[in-house]
Amino acid sequence: MSNLPLDAFGGKLFFTTAWEFNRADVETFIDQVVNDLTSHGVPDSWKTAAGLIRGYITQLKPGQGNESASYYPIPPQYLYRKELVNAAPPPEERPDPPVADEPVSFELDPKAVSNHRVYGMYDFLGYFLSLAPAPDGADRDNFFAPWLVIYWKWCKLFQATEQEKKDSQLNWDKPIKDPKMLQCTWRKTNIEGEDNEDIEKIVFHMGASLGGYAFVGPKGEYGVYQTKKNNWTQSILRFRFNLLADPGSGKVNNQYEWTKAPEYELTAAQAKKSGEKVKKTLMNLAKSGWDFGNCAETYPFLEILSDGGHTSRTEYGGLSIKPEAMAAALEGEPEAFKTPIITPPCRNCQYLLESKYGCGAGNFQPPVSNPTA
Ligand SMILES: [Zn+2]
Repeated sequence: MSNLPLDAFGGKLFFTTAWEFNRADVETFIDQVVNDLTSHGVPDSWKTAAGLIRGYITQLKPGQGNESASYYPIPPQYLYRKELVNAAPPPEERPDPPVADEPVSFELDPKAVSNHRVYGMYDFLGYFLSLAPAPDGADRDNFFAPWLVIYWKWCKLFQATEQEKKDSQLNWDKPIKDPKMLQCTWRKTNIEGEDNEDIEKIVFHMGASLGGYAFVGPKGEYGVYQTKKNNWTQSILRFRFNLLADPGSGKVNNQYEWTKAPEYELTAAQAKKSGEKVKKTLMNLAKSGWDFGNCAETYPFLEILSDGGHTSRTEYGGLSIKPEAMAAALEGEPEAFKTPIITPPCRNCQYLLESKYGCGAGNFQPPVSNPTA
């Protein structure tokens, strides 16, 4: 009996095949899917987006043919940017308080995919891998966890190789940040079939936490309209925060402003400590906490929870895995996909699951036997 994971893309992509793919194989497969969505199980509603996603992945792919300044301004990063010509950032992306005369050179150039805009290569790959619904009977162990490993494997294939960096006209000295987490969220809906039998439909979405960008100098001399350290990072995170925030209030779930997320708050145990200790802990949290939008859950939640129809016959679930926890699996045989360690959702994501989407965080927790849970 085979213990291999279930196939993806309407049974057209075997796990072991996807495991062995190199970059060219992935590109060929993307072409096959886009040219024949139906036989790969991709709903017609994705038709336009699928073509766009292919284009975005191809354009962001590193390599000499792609080193035009429009995709790879210095320093190279795996995200879309455009030059700012005497243009102020849109109001929602301006610093608060405003900064006068801050030099601005590049800004993000997000692309429309589905109802949401996306700027990064890892997210485009996540969108591609999520185009076709999961097969019947798919669950965390036989489908979502192993295919999340494939997702990261493919993301790595689209990073510049050492040889490409050497051959490049560009300076790849600035390290490009990897995502710290990968996540898959799914939604199971029972719909009534023609003969009144229940048909289970499972859609899912894979995403990565903030990554694909290069650190720039302490003054953020590049692509900048904030004065804080790492302001380029802040501006790309702010974009993802805005995806989750309510358009009217600019707050997440009408409650949390920018930089006020639960991951910046004291836990009950921390709050019990005396004044000075609390102050110190709060200062540490300001540095070590993170905001809504940072997490790998960002696009999965938007696609599966925000845009999904909630009914009593709908079930939600998800899992997150740290890329480094996949290392053993990635170096081993395909069977090693079972080793990844699943990470529980952070406090921001728990809040979103419970208070914003009302679907509970229970199905997003690691299995009870998991040693790190
Ligand atoms: Zn989170």
